[in-house]
Amino acid sequence: MKALVYNGPHSKKWTDVPKPKILKPTDAIVKVTATTICGTDLHILKGDVPEVSKGRILGHEGIGIIDSVGESVASFKKGDRVLMSCITSCGSCVYCSRNLQSHCLDGGWILGHLIDGTQAEYVRIPFADNSLYSIPKKLKDESVLCLSDALPTGYEVGVLAANVQPGDTVAIIGAGPVGLSVLMTTQFFSPAIIIMIDTDDMRLEASKELGATHTINPTKLKSSSTTNTSSALLDAISAIKAEVDGPDVPANQQAKPGVDVAIECVGIPQTFDTCQQIIAPGGRIANVGVHGSKVDLQLQDLWIKNIQISTGLVSANTTRALLKSVQSNKIKPDLLVTHKFNLSDIERAYEVFGRAAEEKAIKVLLQVDD
Ligand code: NAD
Ligand code: ZN
Repeated sequence: MKALVYNGPHSKKWTDVPKPKILKPTDAIVKVTATTICGTDLHILKGDVPEVSKGRILGHEGIGIIDSVGESVASFKKGDRVLMSCITSCGSCVYCSRNLQSHCLDGGWILGHLIDGTQAEYVRIPFADNSLYSIPKKLKDESVLCLSDALPTGYEVGVLAANVQPGDTVAIIGAGPVGLSVLMTTQFFSPAIIIMIDTDDMRLEASKELGATHTINPTKLKSSSTTNTSSALLDAISAIKAEVDGPDVPANQQAKPGVDVAIECVGIPQTFDTCQQIIAPGGRIANVGVHGSKVDLQLQDLWIKNIQISTGLVSANTTRALLKSVQSNKIKPDLLVTHKFNLSDIERAYEVFGRAAEEKAIKVLLQVDD
């Protein structure tokens, strides 16, 4: 079969490899019909993820048709259309029973990371009963693909971890597929104001369509009072809150400057710092971005403001609930898909995704024609 094989930093090839086989009774082999390229694949290709070894097949979001199952797989049979979770897990170890599937003692593998992934004609899925989901017939591939990773990441590590409440002012920093997934799912909890912050105007426009009440491009902020970006952001947030609240809020009901929730979806020290600067007393910061280096923790300011901070790796245990939200049209992840390619054209798709801002790309989908 053909697959995209990682050959060390800055090197990959769409090439012939052996078709995967069932290795354990709990395995399934899935014929891939759709997959994506994710920002994490670019991190791997830069060499930022040293655990990924040469020879690994990349890709961790996918849909396919079951080709064969091991003898103890109970929920799926040949021919079933399935969504593949980016995390494979046993479902019964101490971490799975604590809902920390990404730390599963028997699996906990991320596809395309420590085991072969979805940018291939076929993929082996360990613990198939627990790592695959049936897809309701009426749902198109593009409505479901982000449920492998981006959507549960934004929901679990962002929205649920930050405990978004009705009436909150929420700031999301980073309008990539993950930040946009935060944006869609934060609306389950009826915040009053959702501010998307990004340096890319095209992505800010997409955010407005997906429900951001306000957008801010920090590179375009002009503040009369200051030239400091964080202060200028705080000024912009105060202006938004004043506009939404109107002039008649009693003084003792006016919150101090800042947001109730800040969700970091970029993964650089500067944007985590922004979260610390714009968070109001009693606020929650959820860090979703993957940081390749140390970040500063401003505990000297955070403690006195009673700030909670969370971070984590997605466990993808909300996938079933999110599938229901897609089915009922509560969220529309298909709006994130901007480009489609044939799987065999994957090298060109990587080039386009590598110039995401120029190409106005958010999510790139790779399909297999029958
Ligand atoms: P992405 O690169 O597509 O999006 C990042 C966005 O941040 C872009 O729109 C970019 O314009 C914006 N940005 C860059 N610098 C900025 C700045 N200084 N200020 C404001 N905005 C800025 O990435 P993505 O696929 O959406 O993923 C977001 C992050 O989530 C990445 O770090 C990714 O590795 C991480 N992630 C985490 C998990 C997890 O389990 N915690 C899972 C998947 C992805
Ligand atoms: Zn487990």
